[in-house]
Amino acid sequence: MSLRKPITIVGGGLAGLTLGVGLRQHGVLVTIFEAGNYPRHRVCGEFVSGNGQAVLARLGLLARFEQAGAIRARTVMFVRGSNRSPVRQLAAPALCLSRHAMDALLAESFQQLGGELLVNTRWTAGETREGVVHAAGRRAQSAEINPRWFGVKAHVSRSSSVNLEADLEMHLSPNGYIGVNRINGGEINVCGLFRAREGNRQPGSKPDWLRGETGSLLRERLGAAEFESDSFCSVAGLQLKPQRAAAKKECCIGDTLTMTPPATGNGMSMAFESAEMAVEPLAAYSQGKLNWTQARQQIARRCDAAFSRRLAWARLLQWMMISPALQGRLGAMLLRSDWLWRLMFTRTR
Ligand SMILES: Cc1cc2nc3c(=O)[nH]c(=O)nc-3n(C[C@H](O)[C@H](O)[C@H](O)COP(=O)(O)OP(=O)(O)OC[C@H]3O[C@@H](n4cnc5c(N)ncnc54)[C@H](O)[C@@H]3O)c2cc1C
Repeated sequence: MSLRKPITIVGGGLAGLTLGVGLRQHGVLVTIFEAGNYPRHRVCGEFVSGNGQAVLARLGLLARFEQAGAIRARTVMFVRGSNRSPVRQLAAPALCLSRHAMDALLAESFQQLGGELLVNTRWTAGETREGVVHAAGRRAQSAEINPRWFGVKAHVSRSSSVNLEADLEMHLSPNGYIGVNRINGGEINVCGLFRAREGNRQPGSKPDWLRGETGSLLRERLGAAEFESDSFCSVAGLQLKPQRAAAKKECCIGDTLTMTPPATGNGMSMAFESAEMAVEPLAAYSQGKLNWTQARQQIARRCDAAFSRRLAWARLLQWMMISPALQGRLGAMLLRSDWLWRLMFTRTR
């Protein structure tokens, strides 16, 4: 084992920790550098949908999610102004667990398998070193790009009574969307993606943004709800343009490789999937069966093959959700179309 080459992972989020777990299961020596600590809240819809659940099951992590209280979301509804979709069954249930619990349980699993986790330790030693995998989350959008995307999330406390018609409600507007779903522990996660043009700041406070516009169904739902103040978090400068792994010099997985629009509820799944796709080539590198370039290229090819088409559809979905076309009669028709719903659901995961 000591003859094996070690792997360093930059970032102890979902992708980095999942890769760490997979590599430890193959006996690879792994060190993860994590700039923050656990548990911590993250901006996220906390709705895991897609192939990532099967990855968790294969790595023996799904049972731990369930033990931590993860609940299943089975229905979804979209609302845009006075237009609404029917409440629809999801083709496959999504898994809902707070990032507060999820990241901590992955960190614990990695350490129990003998992985070295350096918390509060930022990696500053460059990007293209041999044996280093980048899983440091989203890359910031350049400040000149307009409009700028930003995300805000908070949990509604379990003492607030909020009635939801579907397990996930997506409230859409021309400036973004807000997802509302139940998570573990009886709390409700409210997470919004917003866009702002230069010099055009979103009015009001963050809790106000999450409660939706005056007169909206979301405001009706959340008007009197109390948010857990320590769960508020926000993130700005999100880069939502699809990226190809083959175009990158460094080895990267998760959001560092590419972000999918949050509307798909598939970003966490892509973090788990890309981590799993990296395990075998990195284990082969560690055992001297592949050189670093071969391992990196194999991971990039696998990720591009799995994600390229999905990302193109996700971009179209995001455009449709905020497009003016979703207002008025055409919007009502699109939101009611079962064919469109099935197409978008299957192609974006
Ligand atoms: C508004 C919004 C809503 C979303 N909703 C959903 C949803 O409902 N469902 C879904 O599946 N996905 C959703 N996502 C996407 C999902 O959150 C991400 O795809 C996922 O977190 C990616 O995981 P990751 O491990 O790549 O990055 P992260 O989880 O961001 O982890 C990266 C880690 O790297 C660390 N780090 C960064 N730089 C360094 C450094 N230099 N040295 C050491 N450590 C470093 C950070 O501290 C962090 O812990 C949403 C995203 C947004 C913005």
